[in-house]
Amino acid sequence: MRRVVAFRKISMHTDLLVLGGGPGGYSAAFLAADAGIDVTLVESELRLGGTCLLQGCIPSKALLHVARVISEVEELSSDWGLEYPAPNIELDKIRQRKEQVITNLSGGLKQLAKRRKVKVITARGVFENSTTMQLQGDDASLPESRKITFDHCILATGSVPAMPSAFEIGSDRVMDSTGALQLTDIPESLLVVGGGYIGLEMGTVYANLGSKVSVVELLDGLLPGADRDLVKPLHRRLSKLCGDRIFLNTKVSSLVEVAEGIEVTFEGAEKSDVDRFDRVLVAVGRRPASNGIGLENTAVQLDERGFVICQRNQQTADSHLFAIGDVAGEPMLAHKATHEAKVAVEVILGKTAEFDKLAIPAVVFTDPEIAWAGLTEDQAKAEQRSVEVAIYPWAASGRAQAIGRTEGLTKWLIDPETQRLLGCGMVGPGAGELIGEAVLAIEMGCEVRDLTESIHPHPTLSETLMNAGEVFFGTATEIYKPKR
Ligand code: FAD
Ligand code: NAD
Repeated sequence: MRRVVAFRKISMHTDLLVLGGGPGGYSAAFLAADAGIDVTLVESELRLGGTCLLQGCIPSKALLHVARVISEVEELSSDWGLEYPAPNIELDKIRQRKEQVITNLSGGLKQLAKRRKVKVITARGVFENSTTMQLQGDDASLPESRKITFDHCILATGSVPAMPSAFEIGSDRVMDSTGALQLTDIPESLLVVGGGYIGLEMGTVYANLGSKVSVVELLDGLLPGADRDLVKPLHRRLSKLCGDRIFLNTKVSSLVEVAEGIEVTFEGAEKSDVDRFDRVLVAVGRRPASNGIGLENTAVQLDERGFVICQRNQQTADSHLFAIGDVAGEPMLAHKATHEAKVAVEVILGKTAEFDKLAIPAVVFTDPEIAWAGLTEDQAKAEQRSVEVAIYPWAASGRAQAIGRTEGLTKWLIDPETQRLLGCGMVGPGAGELIGEAVLAIEMGCEVRDLTESIHPHPTLSETLMNAGEVFFGTATEIYKPKR
């Protein structure tokens, strides 16, 4: 009888090591492998996909889809006379469906890595020096030395939820976004701390599933990065959904676990008392995953918030190391990570490339959605930049009227001298799908006339992009604004 004995490699070398298998990391690994580079991807999780696929973008959008259907059906009942019985919510099935989406996509990534001959190692990577990484874990494919050497490394370790120490009380009732996405139950009452992307998206999910949701935000408005006129219609609708329990200019000073929930002390302009909640979701931002991975053993430099400092070509202060995605700075968005991956790989291939974008779209997938790209009005004001703002209210859109969603608006920020499109903001259902056209127009250096002379299909919400351009010229026929 022949015995097959598997020998572990004593040592391992790779041309390019990618640390982190999120959208930044796997894109970089796949692009580099397609270009003929020998690539090893080190990821501590058993599945590829990173925060975005496993604990972020995708599961949250799957749950938001459910929330949207519930709210649309409710709207049909109240506004259109179509009566449906109240939904029977089977949480197990919702969880299973969400898990299936993740499984399908992460399985696909595994196959794609295999076909491209990207070696995937399940281990936690820690830098020993600028060209050596220690591999912590018990994966059978790990070399005996538990070390891998490399010529270049792309650091794509992403970010983790920020949890202020005052909120770390060791209670299951206090969740971060990962906990909230698990959808363990539908709590009767949920306090969302932080009125940013995660707080409002996950708050929307739980509110539509039946929780009594409250939101507390430290600043004087929700979604601090977005222009106020875009936030207003969302705030109004969320207030209705949350029964007016959105508290601005307010902070949570303590959380205490009691027998039936969490007792929360509020201090602020709009709420200053003690209240009890079944669960608390802390969504006060994320911090870069740059700690505890041995970066001090390399020449990499971090800024005061822990982001890896890199040049526009993604190169760090260490000539062997590049950084991309959340760990490399704001905005912490998956599409920024994948575009930075392209730049880093091109530079490693010896080409000249830079991350030089005029417009990184931002989309908040609430109801209504908010989307913007390029210059914002707040930014223009802060930079004392002279811009002309052309706004098209969705109340004038036939499509918006037909679907009963007239609260939206589309606006362009335009250079008054050159008539170039500098920025775009939208609020309304589907704004996230519509903003792509604005990104292309801004990146292409389009002028308003390019927009108004491109025929948009009727009746669609995409027309509002063209119509806002017509507002600039005073030629929008569905609203009255004197000609320029
Ligand atoms: P990540 O996706 O965070 O991946 C990093 C990977 O590195 C992880 O898999 C981690 O396990 C691994 N890793 C870290 N350290 C090590 C180590 N030492 N060794 C081995 N592996 C390591 N963005 C959008 O654009 N659109 C959205 O709709 C959106 N929704 C979101 C919803 C939620 C709830 C959250 C939390 C985030 C959301 N984001 C969204 C943000 C998005 O998830 C991130 O911007 C994106 O995942 C960043 O990609 P990345 O590749 O830089 O890092
Ligand atoms: P965020 O920065 O979007 O919002 C955090 C909010 O919490 C801010 O409004 C901030 O003022 C507030 N805050 C901070 N400390 C507070 C406190 N002690 N009490 C009350 N409020 C407080 O952060 P997030 O919602 O945690 O999301 C993290 C990042 O993940 C986002 O910035 C974004 O980059 C990414 N993300 C993107 C999407 C998307 O693209 N649709 C969705 C989710 C997350």
